[in-house]
Amino acid sequence: MRQSQLFLPTLREVPADADVKSHQLLLRAGFIRQNAAGIYSFLPLGKKVLHKIENIVREEMNRAGSQEMMMPALQLAELWQESGRWYSYGPELMRLKDRHERDFALGATHEEVITSIIRDEVKSYKKLPLNLYQIQTKFRDEKRPRFGLLRGREFIMKDAYSFHDKQESLDATYERMKDAYSAIFSRCNLNFRAVLADSGAIGGKDNHEFMVLSEIGEDLIAYSTDSDFAANIEMAPVVLPAKEISTETLLELEKVETKGAKNIEEVSNYLQVPSHTIIKSLFYMVDEQPVLVLVRGDHEVNEIKLKNELSANEVMMATEEETVKWLNTKPGSIGPVAVSKEVKIIADQAVPLMTNAVCGANEEGYHYLNVNGERDFTWHETADLRFVVDGDLSPDGKGTIVFAKGIEVGHVFKLGKVYSEPMKASYLDENGKNQIMSMGCYGIGVSRTLAAVAEENNDENGLIWPLSLTPFDVHLLAVNSKNAEQAEVADELYEQLKSEGYDCLYDDRPERAGVKFTDSDLIGIPLRVMVGKKAGEGIVEVKIRKSGESMEVSVSELKSVLKREWDKLAN
Ligand code: ATP
Ligand code: MG
Repeated sequence: MRQSQLFLPTLREVPADADVKSHQLLLRAGFIRQNAAGIYSFLPLGKKVLHKIENIVREEMNRAGSQEMMMPALQLAELWQESGRWYSYGPELMRLKDRHERDFALGATHEEVITSIIRDEVKSYKKLPLNLYQIQTKFRDEKRPRFGLLRGREFIMKDAYSFHDKQESLDATYERMKDAYSAIFSRCNLNFRAVLADSGAIGGKDNHEFMVLSEIGEDLIAYSTDSDFAANIEMAPVVLPAKEISTETLLELEKVETKGAKNIEEVSNYLQVPSHTIIKSLFYMVDEQPVLVLVRGDHEVNEIKLKNELSANEVMMATEEETVKWLNTKPGSIGPVAVSKEVKIIADQAVPLMTNAVCGANEEGYHYLNVNGERDFTWHETADLRFVVDGDLSPDGKGTIVFAKGIEVGHVFKLGKVYSEPMKASYLDENGKNQIMSMGCYGIGVSRTLAAVAEENNDENGLIWPLSLTPFDVHLLAVNSKNAEQAEVADELYEQLKSEGYDCLYDDRPERAGVKFTDSDLIGIPLRVMVGKKAGEGIVEVKIRKSGESMEVSVSELKSVLKREWDKLAN
């Protein structure tokens, strides 16, 4: 492609409302333009990259046995009413009426549509399992569209849905999808982790988010230094190291005045004891029942673990009134000693290992010293109730936990019967008995992936595309197009590079050299060939965008040098 003919509007200035690197650079380098908040056009270069991502997704999905199809973006409200999501999805679902006043939604996702198709067409176990996908525009009226393509209101998603008669079949497809996702994001040159995520209201433990490790990520991930263990901070399990077991002798329980000291820090300062020797007691109402939760003073209660452990619908911090009602004292001095039997006590697994600890005395302004579990208080159950912290053991026993922020680019989820049950997607089994299908769903944010790649591959001069996604393979520059000799050599090389199979962008514009170099850096094509002053001697310059390394090469050697540099970048 001759650059003089390409629609590539670049910008010198950083756009004022773009606050992350990828958004700034994709705008400046002429890949995208904003039409409205969270709504973008892909200009020719952006579309080329998008197309490459889609093709990687397509190849890996097909390889994994999923079949491509296409569903409408405009969806009947009745389907969403059947699943119940018409009422529960909230304002993110864009709703509209047709000329006959019938309600429709713009597809935010396609569980309802695909389930309605499958329930009408598939009646027998013999036709299962099925795995279908599409690559399509989705609409979500996000509260805070931001970071350009990373959180749009109209965006491109690959969504796949699988249907099964047996759990083992769903399990196998789930694993195959996870592998396909790893292949896809590896081919996109992303540093990612498959992160165990919370299933929320739907339940089930098979729910992984694919997260690109990134400073600007909105999610916090706990992962292992030495293995591929990774989990959402809410989900990461804590394993106790053996050394936490103590052999100290038990001292006599003692009540002491602690005046105004209420929280762990104040009590720790007042009594001059380290926070890990204090039992942190937090009082909750769990599905309206009183529950006292105990963790070590240097730990934080993870309410999602608490909720999952108690199979609860609602976990709420108790009010002051409720605390007084059940514990006879205000928050600030509460503890597990001599608590009414009606209050359930649940202790983090580290609490029974504490000896001669400190805790609130359920009397305002007083704490106990030398508190010991079993002797001074008991609990109804112990469980893993706290957040992991930096340096905890990795649950798989390999390495320790560290934290990073992540951008969610993909999501795989075992839905079970959440949609098939209310929407009555059933089949006849081997015995002719009617059964409800099980489902899985698997999404990839295709346009978000493009932005994530841009976010993680750039420098102060612009974008740096990986070979697999670059809009062009080679950027050929005639340094001075007005010089007949340079233009002639560059024209010849353009034909040569194309015939060698490179997708070549040829900057033949009558611009100053500085403008061409700046634009070339900004666009970020991995290999650059510059035809300049030495063109007459048959010498050109090759520059590697990523390393900045450049070399003079004779025209006759160009083919082999480009091949060598390409292979180096590929490995
Ligand atoms: P998020 O938590 O970021 O809002 P989500 O969990 O709601 O995303 P899913 O319903 O799992 O998203 O959708 C599948 C994939 O679609 C996500 O993994 C993400 O990559 C992409 N995606 C979701 N919302 C957006 C958006 N507003 N803009 C761009 N991509 C998105
Ligand atoms: Mg998700």
